[in-house]
Amino acid sequence: MSKSSYFLQECGTCGRSLRIRVEYLGKRVVCQHCKTHFRAAEAIGRGESPVKVESVILKRADQLLAAADHSKHRPR
Ligand SMILES: [Zn+2]
Repeated sequence: MSKSSYFLQECGTCGRSLRIRVEYLGKRVVCQHCKTHFRAAEAIGRGESPVKVESVILKRADQLLAAADHSKHRPR
């Protein structure tokens, strides 16, 4: 007798926990509740991409540079 094992994954659309067979890892599955197609074990969103933070810092640096530049060109 062979047991099939499952893992739990939250549906990104309806938020319910779904039991997905391990053999479906990395494959497309359908949520039984809202019929959304998603890839097994990939939809777990954790944190946002660091790109946002980086761009904010770059913007700030840009502003600082611009301000420094501006003070240099102060007419005498
Ligand atoms: Zn769903």
